[in-house]
Amino acid sequence: MHVRKDDLVEVIAGDDAEKGRAHKVLRVLPDDDKVVVEGINRVYKHVKPNRRNPQGGRLSKEMPISASNVLLYCQNCRRGRRVGHRYGADGHKERFCKKCGAGLGVISKPNPKYAKKS
Ligand SMILES: [Zn+2]
Repeated sequence: MHVRKDDLVEVIAGDDAEKGRAHKVLRVLPDDDKVVVEGINRVYKHVKPNRRNPQGGRLSKEMPISASNVLLYCQNCRRGRRVGHRYGADGHKERFCKKCGAGLGVISKPNPKYAKKS
């Protein structure tokens, strides 16, 4: 998976796609290759009154979308971008924007094996 929970992503396909708009990833479903993104693919469920919801009415809920429809958001470009992976000086792995090179978050602890020798 190229995105993780709490990442900011841009939705690039589907009804809610909007260029340059960042949304938070609420949940990642690796088995289905899907993600749940805040405010995206929201469906309304009509519910009858019950104990938890005595009024009944409409409940809104985000449904999963395909992970291939989102790109990690680059703060520098202000756009969703393709990401690459690289190792930092101390051997940690990080993601970066393939367009501008900005770091987009560390995704592993430093590993001496990949540290730059000085
Ligand atoms: Zn960028």
